[in-house]
Amino acid sequence: MPRIRQLPPEVITKIAAGEVIERPASVVKELLENALDAGATRIVVDIEQGGAELIRVVDNGCGIEPGDLPLAFASHATSKLNDADDLFRVRSLGFRGEALASIGGVSRTRLQSRPAAADCGAEITCEGGERGPVRPWNGAPGTRIEVRHLFYNTPVRRRFLRGAATEMGHIAEMITRVALAFPAVAFRLTHNEREVFDVPGSAALPDRLGLFFGGEVRDQLIPISASQGAVRLGGFLVNPACDRGTARMLYVFVNGRWVRDRSLVHALQEAYRGLVMSGRYPVAFVFLELPADQVDVNVHPTKIEVRFRDPQPLYHLVLAAARESLRRAELTPALQVGRGFVPPLSPTTGSIEPPIWRSPADDRQASLLESLAAGRPIQPPPSPPITAGDQQSGEAKADGSPAMPPPFKALQLYDAYLVVETPAGMLVIDQHALHERVLYEQWKERVRAGTLERQGLLVPEPVDLPAEQASLALDHRELLRQLGFEVQDFGGGTVLLTSLPAMIQRGTPGEVLRSAVAHLAGYDRLPEPEQLLDDLLKMLACRSAIKAGDHLSPEEIAALVEQRHLADDTHHCPHGRPTALLLSKQELDRQFKRI
Ligand code: ADP
Ligand code: MG
Repeated sequence: MPRIRQLPPEVITKIAAGEVIERPASVVKELLENALDAGATRIVVDIEQGGAELIRVVDNGCGIEPGDLPLAFASHATSKLNDADDLFRVRSLGFRGEALASIGGVSRTRLQSRPAAADCGAEITCEGGERGPVRPWNGAPGTRIEVRHLFYNTPVRRRFLRGAATEMGHIAEMITRVALAFPAVAFRLTHNEREVFDVPGSAALPDRLGLFFGGEVRDQLIPISASQGAVRLGGFLVNPACDRGTARMLYVFVNGRWVRDRSLVHALQEAYRGLVMSGRYPVAFVFLELPADQVDVNVHPTKIEVRFRDPQPLYHLVLAAARESLRRAELTPALQVGRGFVPPLSPTTGSIEPPIWRSPADDRQASLLESLAAGRPIQPPPSPPITAGDQQSGEAKADGSPAMPPPFKALQLYDAYLVVETPAGMLVIDQHALHERVLYEQWKERVRAGTLERQGLLVPEPVDLPAEQASLALDHRELLRQLGFEVQDFGGGTVLLTSLPAMIQRGTPGEVLRSAVAHLAGYDRLPEPEQLLDDLLKMLACRSAIKAGDHLSPEEIAALVEQRHLADDTHHCPHGRPTALLLSKQELDRQFKRI
């Protein structure tokens, strides 16, 4: 039987270091947090060989008293906590007093520091946990720390390090997170003496987002803000057209800390549902501020996970605020010839007036379309007499009520696209995608209100299904009933269909049921009932919507286009494809060299 024994201190340090310091980026994170806790306004990070050779962080913060230098490397030594109660009102980024001890335990570290008021500073080294003497140091006020040969005494860990470029990627990402949470602090990063970025201290977050993520993100920001009791939410969502292949660009910050929180990330994804295609992820930067006693930051060794005292209301706050911001933003992608498409958002406010939709108010509409179709010259409509109080067409009246809409011109191309003139420009609509969204929104509302109509079959129809699909249909009888399908067991892989949703126009009742059940059978794992119902609604909307290739009469075109302003999110189909592209009047003028 092996005997129990107390581990020697150097092993204890290495075990503790293993939790906090996983790779060079973890060192950078801890050192940045110390600099920020010290009130630094400019932080310079120099890296050599992806951090395996050198990590140097220089700040202009409050500095450390020379007499405290040896304690800085002692484990569980901190200036940020006094007693256990303080743990529940942490305002600093660090509080455990373990980072420098861990870093000093697995590297060759030199710490130089001078408080602003002191004439002279001091330095100390720590190599593999061995502290050297405190010596005078004559540097600038602030703190300078150099970490060399990380993991030199833990060779297995060192072998786990990836190439310099990969480690540098982690470091840059780490600094980005910190720099977003502290937009007023200047950050400079170099690698092998080459500058990676130099971000000035500025209070404007959009500028910083532009510096880190480029103009594509910078120009597509949609502000988000909300509050609930003492909880404040702020930041920016990014237009769904700027989607990504991973969820990594969904940034959540809590009290100035980047955190990994699956629930809040889920709330954001949920808000974008139907605006990005499946397998794609939106981009967002949201900042939550809440009283320190409502969040426990002491649940993860590197503090990247936190626990909320009351997580549910936060989830709903983020979801509702994000939905509202997206609803208010104009999300129809705008075409720019030769430059792909960008959403028509103003960079400062993140929104422009949505195009104002016009319904065919009078018979002129139909005759206009007929003229177009028949190739006849178009008679301009008689202009109405202008009377006092009349508005320019398309503008909202002062009292907020919609103005007389501008004349509406529609045109169908290739039996697939509708071209519509709006005050903002020429809009090209995908007829299938728009109809699909309109049907989905209408049906969803009816399912929610319990007013979805079903159509009973005079003669119930036996529908043959593969045996496992028949039992699936019977297992989900209640779900199908909510959609308008009534099914009964008929035995031997056959179900008896007695009613189906009244709104379905295409296909025989059997075909419609089969496609719904086949959809159910397509899941590896069935989602929650609410999600399943939503998926089925999307599928049925897609199936029932007019298709590319369907020729539409002018009335049908007009009716469809009119629906566009009745439902939310009509700029994207329920699967996240855009329903329309805008070629602005200005872009047309530019292309034809009129401006
Ligand atoms: P913690 O940040 O959890 O307190 P650390 O091990 O990271 O623990 O740092 C130990 C102490 O050293 C801190 O509490 C702080 O007093 C001091 N310190 C570390 N880095 C700096 C710095 N850049 N500027 C001023 N003080 C620092
Ligand atoms: Mg610290």
